Amino acid sequence: MNHTRSSQLFQQAKASIPGGVNSPVRAFKSVGADPLFIKRAAGCHIVDEDDNSFVDYVGSWGPMIVGHCHPDVIAAVKSTMESGASFGAPTERETILANMVIDAVPSIEMVRMVSSGTEATMSAIRLARGYTGRDKILKFSGCYHGHADSLLVKAGSGAATFGVPDSPGVPADVARLTLTAEYNSLESVRKLVAENSSSIACIIVEPVAGNMGTVPPQEGFLEGLREICTQEGIILIFDEVMSGFRVAYGGVQELYGVTPDMTTLGKIIGGGLPVGAFGGKREIMEKLSPAGGVYQAGTLSGNPLAMSAGIATLNILKQPGFYQSLEEKSRTVAEGIAKAARDAGYPIYSTRVGSMFCAFFTKGEVHDWPTASQCDTKAFAAYFLAMLNEGIYLAPSQFETGFVSAAHGEAEIEKTIAAAAKCFKLIA
Ligand SMILES: *Cc1c(COP(=O)(O)O)cnc(C)c1O
Repeated sequence: MNHTRSSQLFQQAKASIPGGVNSPVRAFKSVGADPLFIKRAAGCHIVDEDDNSFVDYVGSWGPMIVGHCHPDVIAAVKSTMESGASFGAPTERETILANMVIDAVPSIEMVRMVSSGTEATMSAIRLARGYTGRDKILKFSGCYHGHADSLLVKAGSGAATFGVPDSPGVPADVARLTLTAEYNSLESVRKLVAENSSSIACIIVEPVAGNMGTVPPQEGFLEGLREICTQEGIILIFDEVMSGFRVAYGGVQELYGVTPDMTTLGKIIGGGLPVGAFGGKREIMEKLSPAGGVYQAGTLSGNPLAMSAGIATLNILKQPGFYQSLEEKSRTVAEGIAKAARDAGYPIYSTRVGSMFCAFFTKGEVHDWPTASQCDTKAFAAYFLAMLNEGIYLAPSQFETGFVSAAHGEAEIEKTIAAAAKCFKLIA
């Protein structure tokens, strides 16, 4: 497969953009290759600058659940653009999308729109601190909540890939306020809560972890967090930037029946345009400026184009049978890949929740960051490159989630499983 033009573009980009990319994991560093520059996409296919076509399981890292260039989303954004891209004044679309989010997500009674997931989690934490009058926060090792200072402590995603649990530039005084527990270990949470009684503002968690690969919550974990938070007056924040409208229309909280106090969203609710949101109980949200004193603002917040793309996307997701059909496709993909590995005698640990899936390159089970980090990342890199060569575009890191979209058809899924069979044999 020819990557000449992508490589040329990458060389040029490196001269003017740090590392040649605007977000680290795009650089393919952990798989030892140059990134592909993408020219266009449609449905579940993306095409690079050398005109190679791939079946896409990255989906812009989650947002593209209805596939690329869905005609409804294009029509909505085009018609909005023709009436103005941004006004810095309220528009009706913001209330429409807010109400769609409130109707969908059990914990959300009021919601504030922002422009990225990072902004959503950062602002949710400020609000939790303002509401409780406490300074400390508790997160989990391997969970990624965007790149705000207080959250870049033992984070997953790009930070896990690059082994930068504490980034230079994050003041020690800030990191000190972030406590880190092990995912799926209520024991580790109870210990930290006991040691820091009455000083923890919030527990923030990916209720299905997707940034250390895909790690589902074990039975009782989310229920246990809910109980601890209620007892201790701690705000429970579900970071559903990835899982919201992904594992179910109402996110993990609908699927598992556990309701947090606050929820952060992003990715899907922007339909591919820059968006984030955070919401929760009315009593908490009304402490937010200008209703209350906790400050938060944004020039492009609730941007008309993003709101239109989000509304159009959610309208597609609301159609009867959408998640059922996506579940069936995703099961076929994940089980097909797991079987291909077994048939090749290659050990992987396969996980999936809805259309989020992962093949961990390890003999053991994966429940948290210590077990995820046991994976053979060199073997993963070989598999990734072999799959790419077969026309399958996976996330370029072991510690990421694969995403199936509604646009993935039978033919593409068959092609994916056949490619996996070939590639596992190749590396076995
Ligand atoms: C992607 C992601 C974020 C960060 O969102 P950005 O839009 O990249 O800032 C936060 N939390 C989770 C769980 C995510 O998957």
